Amino acid sequence: MMQTDTRRINMKEMYQLTATQVMKHFDSPIDGLTSTQAEERRRTSGWNELTAAKSKPLWKLFLEQFQDFLVIILIIAAIISGLLGDAESAVVILVVITLNAILGTVQTRQAERSLNSLKNLSAPKASVFRDGSVVQLPARDLIPGDIVLLEAGDIVPADGRIMECAGLKIDESALTGESLSVDKITDAIPDQVALGDRRNMVFSGSFITNGRGKIIITDIGMHTEVGKIANLLHNTSAKRTPLQISLDSFGKKLSMAILVFCGILFGISVFRGESIGNAFLFAVALAVAAIPEALSSIVTIVLSFGTQKMAKEHAIIRKLQAVEGLGSISVICSDKTGTLTQNKMTVEDYYVNGQSVPADETTPSDTSNKLLYFASVLCNDARIEQENKEIGDPTEVALLQMEPQMHIAISEIQAKYPRIDELPFDSDRKMMSTLHTCSKDDHSSDFSEKQILIVKGAVDVLLQRTDAIWTTNGTIPMNSDEKKRIQMQNQQYSEQGLRVLAFAYRELTIIDKLTFEHESHLTFLGLISMMDPPRPESKEAVATCIRAGIRPVMITGDHIATASAIARRIGILTPDTKACEGAVLDTMSDQELQELVPEISVYARVSPEHKIRIVRAWQARGNIVAMTGDGVNDAPALKQADIGVAMGNTGTEVAKDASDMVLTDDNFSTIVSAVKNGRNLYRNILHAIEFLLSGNLGAILTVLTASLAGLPVPFAPVHLLFINLLTDSLPAIALGLEPHTDDVMKEHPRAATSSILTASFMKKIGLDGLVIGTTTVCSYLTGLQQGNALLASTCAFGTLCLARLFHGFNCKSEKPVLFTKKMKNNKWLIGAFALGAVLITGVLTLPGLQNLFKVQTLTLAQLGIVYLYAFLSLPIIQLCKWIKNRKN
Ligand code: ATP
Repeated sequence: MMQTDTRRINMKEMYQLTATQVMKHFDSPIDGLTSTQAEERRRTSGWNELTAAKSKPLWKLFLEQFQDFLVIILIIAAIISGLLGDAESAVVILVVITLNAILGTVQTRQAERSLNSLKNLSAPKASVFRDGSVVQLPARDLIPGDIVLLEAGDIVPADGRIMECAGLKIDESALTGESLSVDKITDAIPDQVALGDRRNMVFSGSFITNGRGKIIITDIGMHTEVGKIANLLHNTSAKRTPLQISLDSFGKKLSMAILVFCGILFGISVFRGESIGNAFLFAVALAVAAIPEALSSIVTIVLSFGTQKMAKEHAIIRKLQAVEGLGSISVICSDKTGTLTQNKMTVEDYYVNGQSVPADETTPSDTSNKLLYFASVLCNDARIEQENKEIGDPTEVALLQMEPQMHIAISEIQAKYPRIDELPFDSDRKMMSTLHTCSKDDHSSDFSEKQILIVKGAVDVLLQRTDAIWTTNGTIPMNSDEKKRIQMQNQQYSEQGLRVLAFAYRELTIIDKLTFEHESHLTFLGLISMMDPPRPESKEAVATCIRAGIRPVMITGDHIATASAIARRIGILTPDTKACEGAVLDTMSDQELQELVPEISVYARVSPEHKIRIVRAWQARGNIVAMTGDGVNDAPALKQADIGVAMGNTGTEVAKDASDMVLTDDNFSTIVSAVKNGRNLYRNILHAIEFLLSGNLGAILTVLTASLAGLPVPFAPVHLLFINLLTDSLPAIALGLEPHTDDVMKEHPRAATSSILTASFMKKIGLDGLVIGTTTVCSYLTGLQQGNALLASTCAFGTLCLARLFHGFNCKSEKPVLFTKKMKNNKWLIGAFALGAVLITGVLTLPGLQNLFKVQTLTLAQLGIVYLYAFLSLPIIQLCKWIKNRKN
């Protein structure tokens, strides 16, 4: 393999070589590999992935379906009935079990597939040089020799040797246990050192907390340091959702009760003189039909189908549990920039030399305008490439977009003042700095010294570090009046909802390395205000939230006046709530904050650490909180929130990794749609459960009635198995796929602690079951009256089977649906009904099937009675719903 024989050159490790030697070794040009080279090399290197446990082959999955306790009992029952001479029953049971197993296999594989495709959607990406330009590729595509760019918030995609770096700090705690971030370097380390001391290397799975870097990939996949211990980390088993856990425990209790009931029934049958074999067969079949073994798997299927729909609507669910949680969210804490606003900034004004000039009136002939423009271009990491392709932070892109107005090429300015060092932007510090040198042939008076530090950031932060102001008449000291004037200008801009950046500089004698200490004694240059309009859909989404009993809260790093203006415009900040600054939060205890959170709708100038306190405060009041985040420092708050929501476009890989849901369009309204989807899915699952449990109850009540009345057993075992296969899974899944409605957003969030099986839900199941049981018993008694036990059991079987199919339509909604459009809006349910109706009609009428399923030929009138009784359950239950709705 390529990696193993390239690991050492003359017994030297990659960290002992210079970056150039490593590049030579991998034969990688400075602008990266070509796609053809990459494809060729991949043949030997393989993919950059940890070999996860392969998905099970289909046959294994199929065999696993037979491991179920009930299926084993059924197989024993089939054997017993074969031994008793009833070969037909034995064959039918085995066929039914096999069909069930096929259905189970298909369902499991389908759910697995949709979960995998979700995983792929949220797979990490890397910025790689390919064919001479930087492209975003899935991390899986990387090969040794690839040149990759890293920046704060990225998760290192593979092991690599650092070629260039600026302020690069990496958290390698997952690998080394060292909690402090490691400062990275580019120089070779001649001595042999331990992993944690290989400071010129980066290791897969660790994450960049600060700065930027360029690396050459040295090892991928299982050859990386993390790959070597990957076997220890394999933890791929999917967690069960709370709903599944509670359903499983409910299912277990119910199964026990049903088994006891079947045991008693077995005893009664034997006591009445039934042969032990037949009595056993019947008891087993009843248990199989009554135990809702499909409950948990239906939840998985419905949730995984639901997440596919959500992914198409820009919300990628990373953890299945999150879908359930979405329905309970009572607070959404959202960032402002890009989530509630468009993140499409345009410069509105320049403020320099004590004057505010609208952007379209700035001129390059004005030294003050020119100087501010220079500073905004130099202290800037964004780029505008060919065809106006914007790369980087929209705030910085906006600054570059002044180029046509100012008529001075950005490239010219950058060439004139090359960047030597930088302190990247960080939302904690709320500023960034770059250090530049002036070229030798520079005779302009713009920046006279050889090195100049340019700082840009939040106005309040920068003002604390400035002690002079640049004016056209020279630099003057910053006094309180000047400071006030700048603050007033800032306030004026902010109240219009504008985002304001301050610029300052400092002339330095030659230094090697920029440190935070250099960001002081600055000379204030000016302000630039920018417009970032709210997204048009934000206002409506906020209103929907409020209607749905969800409290929207804005948490932003921006100025309090800017944040308040925007929040007011979209309806988050109302007259009875207020805005609060991060600095004020620092003065509050957790207890005080807990008491105050309901009053605060906007948090401004917050640091990521404040976010975690806000989440905790809401949680302590019993709320389920969704929190958005994008930066590396947001990860703890995203984890603390019940639903952590990361930004797909602007978010860092670390934030995405810590989240439960990723928004591919970074849009607040997508969170609200996801809540709607979550609530709908939960409701659909409840309907599927209602359908399964009430149908099963109908069967039990019929058997119980016949048994108590001393009448012949109403169903043959094959009947119950047929019903179990036909009327259990398909309509239940179809109900899970019921089209979503907006109604759910008129209700208040579901209490997270509330059990699904509430008293009213159980009552509903009880009533539905009673109706189905009664109609089945009526049909059975009619059969008994008109003929013999065989006719009665045929009628009971036909009615129960069809009644359950009709009942699917009852379970569509809490409201009556008969004679409404809703009755026919679920094609899956109509399909499941039609298929079921055709099959049961076939069994009842086709002579070959009649024998097999132990039914008697019915006259047309008798068939009519079977259908009529079955159908009756629909209008009766609909009527009950209508009465209940009228009462409410
Ligand atoms: P949100 O938290 O809602 O996304 P935000 O973008 O304003 O809002 P941060 O990115 O934390 O929050 O920015 C905080 C402050 O830092 C801004 O108000 C601005 O003054 C300043 N700032 C933002 N971007 C930059 C940048 N690229 N360079 C320098 N300062 C910046």
